[in-house]
Amino acid sequence: MTELILLALDKSSTLSLFSRAFQAVGYKTIIAHNRSGVEKVIRESHPDALLLGTKLDEEQGIKIIEKLLTQYPTFPIIFLADKKSPELIRKALHAGISAYLEPPLKTDEIIEAVQISLMRARRIGDWVRKEITGTTASLEKRVSELEVLLTIGRNLTSTLELDSVLKSVLSAAVKLTNAEEGSLLLLDEETNELYMRASHNFEEGFAETFRLPISDTLAGQVVASGKPLILSKSSLEKIKTAYLVQALIYVPLKFDEKIIGVLGVDNRLHRLPFTDRDLLLISLLADYAAIAIENARLYQTTEIERTKFEAVLSNMGDAVMILDQEQRIQLVNTTMSNALDISVEKLHNNLVSEVITQSDFLMLLKLEKKDSTQYHEISLNDSRIFSAQYTNIPNVGAVITMQDISHLKELNRLKDNFVHTVSHDLRSPLTAVLGYAELLERVGQVNKQQREFIRRINSSVQDITALINDLLDLGKIEAGFDARRESIQLDSILRYTLDNIKVLAENKKQTLEIDIATDLPPVRGNPVRIRQMFDNLIGNAIKYTPREKKVFVKLQREDNQIIFRVADQGQGIPQEDQPHIFQKFYRASNISTSASGTGLGLAIVKTIVESHNGRIWVESKVDEGSTFFVVLPSS
Ligand code: ADP
Repeated sequence: MTELILLALDKSSTLSLFSRAFQAVGYKTIIAHNRSGVEKVIRESHPDALLLGTKLDEEQGIKIIEKLLTQYPTFPIIFLADKKSPELIRKALHAGISAYLEPPLKTDEIIEAVQISLMRARRIGDWVRKEITGTTASLEKRVSELEVLLTIGRNLTSTLELDSVLKSVLSAAVKLTNAEEGSLLLLDEETNELYMRASHNFEEGFAETFRLPISDTLAGQVVASGKPLILSKSSLEKIKTAYLVQALIYVPLKFDEKIIGVLGVDNRLHRLPFTDRDLLLISLLADYAAIAIENARLYQTTEIERTKFEAVLSNMGDAVMILDQEQRIQLVNTTMSNALDISVEKLHNNLVSEVITQSDFLMLLKLEKKDSTQYHEISLNDSRIFSAQYTNIPNVGAVITMQDISHLKELNRLKDNFVHTVSHDLRSPLTAVLGYAELLERVGQVNKQQREFIRRINSSVQDITALINDLLDLGKIEAGFDARRESIQLDSILRYTLDNIKVLAENKKQTLEIDIATDLPPVRGNPVRIRQMFDNLIGNAIKYTPREKKVFVKLQREDNQIIFRVADQGQGIPQEDQPHIFQKFYRASNISTSASGTGLGLAIVKTIVESHNGRIWVESKVDEGSTFFVVLPSS
């Protein structure tokens, strides 16, 4: 290719003279007369050298040189001095020109100077190109190393298949270090040996049976010291009997400061040494491998736990369902699926309200969740009855468990029937006992002691009769034989009760504070039962409150409900007894054994309240007192 020389001279005569001389020796030329002309030619035509005359303008000439060389540092500039001026030459040399010529200027010398400058520029160019090629190759190598590492990193997070991750780690280790073989040895803690978990370029049979003791081996040394090893010996290095290598790298596999094995690459045939860079790459890969192994271990442990949990869950007799915070079914066992008669697949991952229509079950979800656990009975169409619990689990959702209590319900029914029948049958003989006891005094003289015995018989029979009456009442209300309803005024029934009962309070010198609202709306109910309810609650308050204390009775309206409360300053009910006091025969642990009563009063009250669609509950503190609340809907 013909080289192009830019001539930037002032005198047109010398200009064309030089131009012709250059053309004669095979160069192309181009001429510029001023600074902007020079810059334009350089920008557009890319000349190979510049012949610059000083006449152009001394200051400008130096500026052009400086600017051009800042942009193109290897661009050859040959400077032609117009007159001998050491100062100007010094400045030009400082600025970085390739050559300068002083008068007398001879064409041959000028051409020679240009040729030498061009040759030097070419050499510099060649050197720079070589350097760039070298640097680019090494950069490309680094980039490809990084890409390999990145791919493995990504692979690591996207797959839990240990075999595939380890395979790619080993093939990368071998590829990046130009090694012949790669191996990943893991420590068998039981035998204190290293076995080959993964390998690259090893014979399959060999890899499978490979086992290396910790003591007296290079790999064992790395495990014991926790430090990497790089070996490039002139002689063959024996790392295991009958296994010789020329060069090798072993890097410990560490997780949480614990050494679990070794990652290694080696050259057996070629004496190709490994570099520190190779060591660094193997160390990075070893970190990846250690993370992959730990991830797989964690995953396996979690899987085992999950399988165990699932086995327990599906084999347990209780029905279990776990909901997320949106009430979507996350987990359900077969007992639950059988109870609801809906397949596990249909339930799983769906909203409860979309897949379950069973009304009791939906009611359980609607119950006020002020406490963490709610209880509800669920009667299924196939007549089975389940006791269900709904428990809120913060940040998870809720768990519902259900137990089949059909057999308990049946037992309860049989027991109630039995009690009812027996009570009924006991009434006549008891009446007879009472009658004959009374007759005793009439048929003959009785002494003082005999009279006392008769009194005791009387009192005991009366107690038993009261108990039997309570039981029969309860049976009647529970069986729904007591459905008579009429419009009643609670205030007048309450006043009637108070009139009858106030004597009991007076006997104990207690004060009865009464607050009954006027204009209370009527309630639909059974007046006999409502009176029984008031009698029991106020009677208890008086009975369980010491002498000279107070009992408060309040009846008021709230919206379309009527609230009755009776508060006392009595002994209170221990917290642990409170959930049970409405059960039949239950008496709290803090009452004295001599306190009269059957433990049936509150069970009767609760049955009455519920048969009137009302609610009853108690708030109580031991030694401070109790308040019973009854809420009934007004008609
Ligand atoms: P009882 O015949 O024993 O009074 P109830 O069914 O009426 O049976 O009451 C059950 C239990 O509840 C009582 O034995 C007592 O322990 C407790 N109880 C009921 N009312 C009160 C109260 N006002 N103060 C303290 N304890 C009470």
